Amino acid sequence: MLDICREIASEVQAAVKPLIGVARGEKIDAAAEETVLRLLSETEIPMLVVSEESGRVMLGETPKYICVLDPVDGSFNAAHNIPIYSISIAFARYKPSATLQDIEFGLVKNLATGEVFEAAKGKKSTCDGKNISTSQREDLTTSTLCIYLQKNIREIRLLQKLKGVRALGSIALELCYAARGDYEGLVDLRGCLRNIDVAAGKLILEEAGGVVSDESGKALKTSIHEVNTLSIVASANEKLHKKVLEVI
Ligand SMILES: [Mg+2]
Repeated sequence: MLDICREIASEVQAAVKPLIGVARGEKIDAAAEETVLRLLSETEIPMLVVSEESGRVMLGETPKYICVLDPVDGSFNAAHNIPIYSISIAFARYKPSATLQDIEFGLVKNLATGEVFEAAKGKKSTCDGKNISTSQREDLTTSTLCIYLQKNIREIRLLQKLKGVRALGSIALELCYAARGDYEGLVDLRGCLRNIDVAAGKLILEEAGGVVSDESGKALKTSIHEVNTLSIVASANEKLHKKVLEVI
């Protein structure tokens, strides 16, 4: 399935290239999604596609897989030619109860730089074919996290304890950068993140040694049968994860 993801990501990169920095985010999203749906249907593998624009699309009958797709994560950045936007594709074997925990393959490609992050369940995550691992930092005072703030700034205690804070505008890529050890994780408690944004990045971070849960430390059991929203806490390692959860 990762072969299919790679081919799709390359074609989407080519399809959106002329639109970057000139078209509106919606137009870039639509062009990308149309490309992905065409290529997925050409595989003739029966599957349920859950995607940003179209919601649920059934390709063929008796689906074998669920494809959880964000054709462009970071449309704002793409529209403004800020080189942090990506395609996120994840696959789970089809079952009626499938959740984010069931994702088996994930690929995130930075559509500006061409960098590719991949994971298959049980195997080490890679960036451009090389194994990657999360940061070993276990203390908040030496850690940098991507944080998306709620309006009531419930995260203020966490902000005060950290070394640094970032918000780059593409959740899928932000999870991958944490997987590579660039910084120590991501916190988004707004409850408006979507399963399609995190499906691939979550697996890539976990297979690189990271930990992903909801705000109470529970596994993300969000259904992937349709677009759903959630909050996440993602950390480079178990010890840091506990410390982040204690503060929030
Ligand atoms: Mg999108």
